[in-house]
Amino acid sequence: MLRLLIAFIAGYLLYKLITGEKKHKTKEEISKKVATGEMVKDPVCGTYVSTSSDIRVKDGDKIYYFCSYECRDNFLKKLEENKQK
Ligand SMILES: [Zn+2]
Repeated sequence: MLRLLIAFIAGYLLYKLITGEKKHKTKEEISKKVATGEMVKDPVCGTYVSTSSDIRVKDGDKIYYFCSYECRDNFLKKLEENKQK
């Protein structure tokens, strides 16, 4: 009976760890890294990417970071379109 109770509690704690709290932590970690400039938002899809990423575009003084080459290419296309206008 006691073993069953312990197993139940352990299962509950594991469940709690996997669901809500883990998500909360990652969100907090991301906002911390955004504040310190370690992470920035991909302007195309809105994903947070590390500033150590090699997928970047320099536009004047600003540097943009992207989660993938696909996003970078989309951004470059838009940049070209804006310059032509
Ligand atoms: Zn992206």
